[in-house]
Amino acid sequence: MNAPAHRRVLPEAPQRRGWCPGLARPMPTGDGLLARVHPPLGILSLDQARAVAQGARLYGNGHLDLTARANLQVRGVSEASSAPLAGLLAQVGLGDRRADGGPQRLTLTQPLAGQDPAELIDVPALARAIEAAALDIPGLPAKTLVVVEGRRDVTAPEADCLVTAIDAAQVDVAIAAADEMHRVTDCAATEAPAVVAALLTAFARTGRRRMRDLSEDERTRLAEAPIASTRGQDRQPGCPARAPSPLCGGGWPDGLLLRQQGSGEESDGADRGSGLHVGHAPSGSGAPLSRPPSGVTLPRKGGREMRGGTFAPAAGLHESGRAHILALDAPFGRCTADALDRLVSAAEAVGADALRLSPTRGFVLLAPVGAPAAAALPDLASDFIVAPDDPRRSVDACTGAPGCASGSTPTLLDAERLAQTFQPLAAQGYTAHVSGCTKGCARPGPADLTLVGAQGRYGIVIGGAPGDEPAIHLPIEAVLERLGRAKTVGLSAAFTSDTARADDRRDGRPA
Ligand code: SF4
Repeated sequence: MNAPAHRRVLPEAPQRRGWCPGLARPMPTGDGLLARVHPPLGILSLDQARAVAQGARLYGNGHLDLTARANLQVRGVSEASSAPLAGLLAQVGLGDRRADGGPQRLTLTQPLAGQDPAELIDVPALARAIEAAALDIPGLPAKTLVVVEGRRDVTAPEADCLVTAIDAAQVDVAIAAADEMHRVTDCAATEAPAVVAALLTAFARTGRRRMRDLSEDERTRLAEAPIASTRGQDRQPGCPARAPSPLCGGGWPDGLLLRQQGSGEESDGADRGSGLHVGHAPSGSGAPLSRPPSGVTLPRKGGREMRGGTFAPAAGLHESGRAHILALDAPFGRCTADALDRLVSAAEAVGADALRLSPTRGFVLLAPVGAPAAAALPDLASDFIVAPDDPRRSVDACTGAPGCASGSTPTLLDAERLAQTFQPLAAQGYTAHVSGCTKGCARPGPADLTLVGAQGRYGIVIGGAPGDEPAIHLPIEAVLERLGRAKTVGLSAAFTSDTARADDRRDGRPA
């Protein structure tokens, strides 16, 4: 079964209140305010990570979210505690950059950016230059996202703008259209910050919230902006071809070989849901690049259909030959302040100097060869997902009840139960989402199986999003029972409405 590749309009951002310039953008949720933390380049020093954990404990309820944009959210903040939390974060360089509701961070890079020998350009330098050139553009929507990818043939996360390396000096620049990436131009990597800034300036003037919402006419006009802006400009410094990684001394061997320890197999994908794909020739193939001309759209496919490399390493321990890579996902994107502290201690034990946030809603540690990386995994397994076949990686879940006032079902507990039964389907690449209501905070887009909480039960959507019409409403016990049949009869057949009345009676609710 293929997941549908259709797009969903993201839900409106929660109404903001109690926000003051310099504060960590607290937002109301069912368990208090929520403060977003945007680590530059998605990297937390160990001191910064300790400060976030301390802030979550002192000024929140001790719980943290990890987002698919490699940011953090401190939960359970109050009106009174938001200011001291913001002060603590600012002291360690994690304060907000804008006070006008615009984005606090524009770029998303792979967790190993700057350390991956497969990267053709200096990705961190280019991302920093794009932040410097474009972050402060007036009127830019808060969720504007620019993905910078230095490798060829990689499935990148969904973004408004995608900058992909062609070779050591050139990049492609594409913007999101309705269901495709629309290639705008190629340019020197040194010119990319100005090109992106021109695109985003023109985008901000349209008043649209997402690039994909532009009409064809608007997109055509916007695509002309960078050409005019960069004509005759001097090249900007700061975006050279990649420098050797500090961990690899004289340079990496041929590509970063990601292998699951003990499996002998190449790491599988870490991306979820839909992604963007730029169809370059495989890295190292020596084949000439076959790139479409500017203005041509590139198909975007569901994550499972993609054949490209993965944006982030899958959960587990990988060996590169020159380093250990520990990838740890937070179950359903949640962890506690105490778990974060334990992770910092583990990072120190293995010689990692930072926590790299991953869009898989987890962390990546880079440890030198010879460090006791494998010994760290068993202890971390109580807080984090440490294996790629953990079925929780295929299930998204929001806060739900009792943490969120909009939820009537304990989504996190139910998702934990569902994940076990879902394992055979997860192994085949299927995805599930347990949403407390139609808002779909954890996954606005479609999943193969979506449970939507309503009045203590779940509406079942097959191959759709939380806002779609459910095929049937069931209590969680009936969902789990039917899921057991799905591996033989298929998801759709397992959730037909023929036995709904029996399921309802078992729950004691009227049909
Ligand atoms: S989707 Fe979940 S977290 Fe979001 S509003 Fe609904 S119940 Fe709350």
